[in-house]
Amino acid sequence: MHLLFVVLACSTLALSAANEWGYPDLENNQDEPFPKWGGLCDSGKKQSPINLHVNGALKGEFDPLKFENYDEHQGSLQMVNNGHSIQISGFDHELTLSGGALGSDYVVEQIHMHWWSEHTINTIRYPLEVHIVHRNTIYPNITMAANFKDGITVLGVLYHVSNTPNEAIDSIIKSLGEIKAYEQQNVPVNVADSLAVDDLIPSVANYFTYAGSLTTPTCAEAVTWIVLTQTFPVTLAQVNEFKEIEYDQGKQLHNNYREIQSENNRAVVLVEQLQRAGAAQLSALGLSLTLLLCFAVQKINLL
Ligand SMILES: [Zn+2]
Repeated sequence: MHLLFVVLACSTLALSAANEWGYPDLENNQDEPFPKWGGLCDSGKKQSPINLHVNGALKGEFDPLKFENYDEHQGSLQMVNNGHSIQISGFDHELTLSGGALGSDYVVEQIHMHWWSEHTINTIRYPLEVHIVHRNTIYPNITMAANFKDGITVLGVLYHVSNTPNEAIDSIIKSLGEIKAYEQQNVPVNVADSLAVDDLIPSVANYFTYAGSLTTPTCAEAVTWIVLTQTFPVTLAQVNEFKEIEYDQGKQLHNNYREIQSENNRAVVLVEQLQRAGAAQLSALGLSLTLLLCFAVQKINLL
């Protein structure tokens, strides 16, 4: 009997500890301060998210990022309302990310979203940010990986407002109704539509990369961030669906982004492949053609 009480008391404690942290409800009070989450979240010097400046970033050049199996349709995905976000896992194909500035192979562990975006680009906040969380394959699990600075890579995709619904986001929203209520918290449901992860990702040619942290407690500084500069469309009606999920009885999670953290002189690198190089080559070609034409015209004039 005593043991049962202790076990119950412990699990209640664990539950309340897990739900202790949260976000200010900015829809009800836009001046509500962001709470302190404690530990590294308050004392860390390499925290995320940050504002990403296109003009302030260092220019980088790396091999292209390599994505394996991101185009495979995942038929048995599961989705859960964990009280802080909507999280998707259960990939039946192993998705591997390598290349770029990454020193090893990373596999997708889970995907979740933030509404509004956590990172801002040139101080602009976007309505939605999708995080595709990858674990370095040299570590056996994500908890272990979080102890090392090369442990985790998160691919961040920002979405811009559009009139055109995003089909991939729609596939997720279709199953969202089952987990919006507080009573359904931490109860996984199947994602009804099969989804290929690359349907959530626009062009990966241009991106920011920097060393940062998880944006939720424990705020471990184990993350190589890759935030794409190209954004993807989403409608505000779609974003509003996410805002209806409950984190507590009758309380909706209107926003779940962390405030911008200090950059602290970190190197933020902007990688621009293909498009910019292509554009530079094209303009160089244009210039040579123009010069050639000038010479030709001059010659004709001389004749
Ligand atoms: Zn996140």
